[in-house]
Amino acid sequence: MAENDSTLSKALGFVSDSVDEAVSDFDFQPGVERFGRVSSIGSGVARIKGLTGVMADELLDIGGSATAMALDVDEKFTGAVLLGEAEQVEAGTEARRTGRVADVPVGEGMLGRVVDALGKPLDGRGPARSERRLPVERPAPAIMDRDPVEVPLQTGLKVIDALIPVGRGQRELILGDRQTGKTSIALDTIINQRGRGLVCVYCAVGKRASSVTKVVRELEEFGAMDYTTVVVTTEEDAAGMQFLAPYAATSMAEHFMEQGRDTLVIYDDLTRHARAYRELSLLLRRPPGREAFPGDIFYIHSRLLERSTHLNEDHGGGSMTALPIVETEAQNLSAYIPTNLISITDGQIYLSPTLFRKGILPAVDVGRSVSRVGGKTQLKAYRAVAGDLRLSYSQFEELESFSRFGTRLDEDTRKKIERGRRVREVLKQPRSSPLSAAQQVFLLVALGHGVFDERPVEGLAEDQQRILGVLDESLNDLAQSILDGDAIDDESIERIATEAKAALSEDEG
Ligand code: ATP
Ligand code: MG
Repeated sequence: MAENDSTLSKALGFVSDSVDEAVSDFDFQPGVERFGRVSSIGSGVARIKGLTGVMADELLDIGGSATAMALDVDEKFTGAVLLGEAEQVEAGTEARRTGRVADVPVGEGMLGRVVDALGKPLDGRGPARSERRLPVERPAPAIMDRDPVEVPLQTGLKVIDALIPVGRGQRELILGDRQTGKTSIALDTIINQRGRGLVCVYCAVGKRASSVTKVVRELEEFGAMDYTTVVVTTEEDAAGMQFLAPYAATSMAEHFMEQGRDTLVIYDDLTRHARAYRELSLLLRRPPGREAFPGDIFYIHSRLLERSTHLNEDHGGGSMTALPIVETEAQNLSAYIPTNLISITDGQIYLSPTLFRKGILPAVDVGRSVSRVGGKTQLKAYRAVAGDLRLSYSQFEELESFSRFGTRLDEDTRKKIERGRRVREVLKQPRSSPLSAAQQVFLLVALGHGVFDERPVEGLAEDQQRILGVLDESLNDLAQSILDGDAIDDESIERIATEAKAALSEDEG
């Protein structure tokens, strides 16, 4: 029985120990045409005549020198996207079905590796050891197999963990114009997972090779490659590979999720993924829709993101959190691809170029950002501080624009503005310097208790360091209970505020 099962699943291409085995095991039925001929080829796609019984996503071998993936399976023609160079292919070249759908190697051996969209190593460190292969395209887990999102995924960034908390299994969009710090937020989140047992996959879609190199170097520098796989397609790669990459990355994470592990996948970015798919669709002569994107672009992305979830205990309790990135143009959130993705995800972190220019980093626009499910997962201690914080920040933004007109302000308004400026300052955070939940709560409690009110805004970065320098030691017990998810009582809040004040005045003398 078990043996039958495995032959069947191999034949279907679901599990295969090695490529060759999978191909030789495939049972081509009599009457099924395994060979065909290329009738047209160009810019990333090929149309092939004569094949029958082709599966969606099946790999085709073209003249022994090129690989393609069947995307359009038609009675007369097979429309396939080329996965890589195809210089020697011309009209009339023989095409052969492989009986195998596009798949990637998965498992522990993939961690620390930099691979392409088919899982082939790009880091020059030899073949990747893999336990098994998974198809890149897999159905999302059934609703009945899922559990609500329950555990927070700490990004280590105060502004996100306090105000836009993300839970494990959530899909949170990061969107903003060019160069607003989108990738930085994703990388900081990966770096913050060190020692937390999470598996991360960073997927670059159509990026410049130099920026991918920078990403890998940074992950290495912070020891994050130990638990991370980087899937890379650059702008030079075939559109077919760029299209495939996010699905491949998802399968790699899925393997760990199915083993009960928590995983995090970054898609950087889906704007480029949509463009690659648009290019392929137009070349395959599918009818263009809005902004020339094919009609199924929404489905393409929802099918991808639907695979991120939190599995229930019967299925191991693993999770996959997705942080898709989308690039907007001129802050236009209502363009086609951004609105699609906003509606598919469980919230968005919006990065504003205006804030970025003012040096308010990370440039998160709190008013336009939301997390729809993460709030329930947030560690209890944050609840003592987050509500006040959001309120005083939004009041401040409103008042600030008024006060610019030089109107005379009453004492109360002046105080609100002074507090607001400090809130904004404390929510700033430099690159690659994640803070634990306890450290964040300490600083935010101090902020809410006016510890910084009499301090010059310019010195707040240093003040925070000083406070943490003392409190990390003296409030060790409290830090542990915050991390354990306990709520903090008024007494503890007083303790934090008093110690923080003392830490600042101590240094003064
Ligand atoms: P692109 O659109 O090119 O992909 P992006 O939106 O991903 O850009 P990043 O590459 O993450 O933006 O960041 C742009 C620049 O801003 C980088 O030089 C980065 O180091 C800097 N930066 C981002 N966040 C911070 C921060 N919190 N503190 C200081 N510098 C930052
Ligand atoms: Mg980027």
